[in-house]
Amino acid sequence: MSTTTQRKIMIAANWKMHLNVSQSSLLIHRLHERIKTHRSVEVVLAPSMLVLQPVSMQIDRRKFHLAAQNAYQVDEGAYTGEVSFSMLQDMVHYVFIGHSDRRNKFNENLDTICAKMAAAVRNGITPLLCVGETKTERLAGETTRVLHDQVTTALANLTAREVQEVVIAYEPVWALSSGTDFMHHETPKPDEIAKAVETIRHNIKELYGVKASKQVRVLYGGSANASSAYDLLGVEGVDGLLVGGASLNYHEFSAIVDAAFRVQQEE
Ligand code: PEP
Repeated sequence: MSTTTQRKIMIAANWKMHLNVSQSSLLIHRLHERIKTHRSVEVVLAPSMLVLQPVSMQIDRRKFHLAAQNAYQVDEGAYTGEVSFSMLQDMVHYVFIGHSDRRNKFNENLDTICAKMAAAVRNGITPLLCVGETKTERLAGETTRVLHDQVTTALANLTAREVQEVVIAYEPVWALSSGTDFMHHETPKPDEIAKAVETIRHNIKELYGVKASKQVRVLYGGSANASSAYDLLGVEGVDGLLVGGASLNYHEFSAIVDAAFRVQQEE
């Protein structure tokens, strides 16, 4: 965390393609019991597209905000199987854009991601942009260049004012868990995370100015769990966590939210 800004901590759960409607409802019920409303920590849940509607009726919106894991960049038309950003208005606060699953398994390129960022903003939904290098790129010493390319192309159609509102998650692809091995997976050292976050803010500063670079929230994602959350949240410049595997377990996820409350109280 930075002690010099008032950026609100965000803990975001990426449920990926897990949990049907009744499993999601059960998890929400448990999270409601376990997590207290706290004005200084924002808790965001990203269930599957199918589950968003029932979950949106179930959640206490003072406690949880919703995110979609994806959306299509055209507002309406003959795009069989897609759901547009405009259809998600009023249901979600955020949409994930550029997650490595989308980049690597669904071939989303920099242009598609740029178009999705613009579509989100046009429809009044805050983009949660995921960026990060693969293992090969890391070993080739290309992390800084990859982050530069991913950040600058994604934000290319936005104004400085719009960029300020964006949330960026630094998710090194090699550190993401398979969903179950988040306790034992290789993760970056705190100074590597701090350097990546600094690179992201530097790129934003160069193009959109100091205010945007200081206001934008930058999360870390990659095998975060209840034991690592407190330390990860203490890394300079990190404003929260994007949590995959550990978010499916309510003990783990609520302990991560507790760690965020502790960090916030110590500020
Ligand atoms: C993710 O895929 O966004 C993620 C953070 O996953 P995990 O925490 O399981 O590594």
